[in-house]
Amino acid sequence: MKTDNLSSPAVIKNILAERGLMPKKGLGQNFLIDKNILRKIAESAAEDGNRRVIEIGPGLGALTQALIEAGLRPACVEADGTLEEHLRDFFGDDIDLIFGDFLKIDTDSLFGSEKATVVGNLPYYITTPIITKLIENRDKVKSVTMMIQREVADRLRSAPGSSDYGSLTLFVRYYCDVKSVVKVSRNVFYPVPKVDSEVLKLTMRDTGAVETSDEKLMFDIIRSAFGKRRKTVLNALANSEYLLWTKDFAAKVLAKTGIDEKIRGEKLDLGDFAALANTARELLG
Ligand code: SAM
Repeated sequence: MKTDNLSSPAVIKNILAERGLMPKKGLGQNFLIDKNILRKIAESAAEDGNRRVIEIGPGLGALTQALIEAGLRPACVEADGTLEEHLRDFFGDDIDLIFGDFLKIDTDSLFGSEKATVVGNLPYYITTPIITKLIENRDKVKSVTMMIQREVADRLRSAPGSSDYGSLTLFVRYYCDVKSVVKVSRNVFYPVPKVDSEVLKLTMRDTGAVETSDEKLMFDIIRSAFGKRRKTVLNALANSEYLLWTKDFAAKVLAKTGIDEKIRGEKLDLGDFAALANTARELLG
């Protein structure tokens, strides 16, 4: 690895100019220029005890450099092939490089026998699909330390009843422990994006956060409740394309679970949804 500081705006501008590159808006290329925050992200990844880490979206390599400085060996997946020469010149054999869209990549070839530590500062528009893909591969993933738009981070931490609370919150909370690593101002990126961020660490749980006899049914109930947020929970569950329940059946499930049919689904927590799924499973046989 070369020694220039990749979080320095002057170094970044120089590399871009020398290589004839421009930050690509469509790929969310806002480069982090705060060494302290980069160090905190690297420390969060290092806590797992894995030497090999998977970095999604290395860009020019500011976080990659911090990961190496923390004693880690990054395997980087980058969608932008025009960064290849720079990354190979700068890091040499200190990293593994894979070019492609992380969302399309075959995870079997990426994840090894140990549960992987994943880290990334990624475009906001792919936060949800990336988190979803990693949770779907949770048997191969230990944790994900990820830069997330502040509003989305708020959603993942929000409580029942708040406007931020939604099915993504419950999906992530069921499968992961969620911890804030550091809040990040928009001013520590080049170029400056329109929103503030936060780095969260999602650690995959060995078992779901609540006990349910039917996970799929629980998430179908959650999707139904939040798909029709403004309806009462009875109407949301009785008019759901995911459940196909009659109104009588939905009323019965709610009554037997001890949940008021007139409240809105967004007032319910994971435990309530698990209880609803358990009752429905029992009644459905
Ligand atoms: N890690 C660098 C940093 O912190 O300065 C760059 C971060 S920049 C916000 C996001 C990076 O992710 C860009 O380099 C972009 O090309 C890359 N990227 C965007 N979509 C991607 C995808 N689907 N798969 C892999 N990389 C992607």
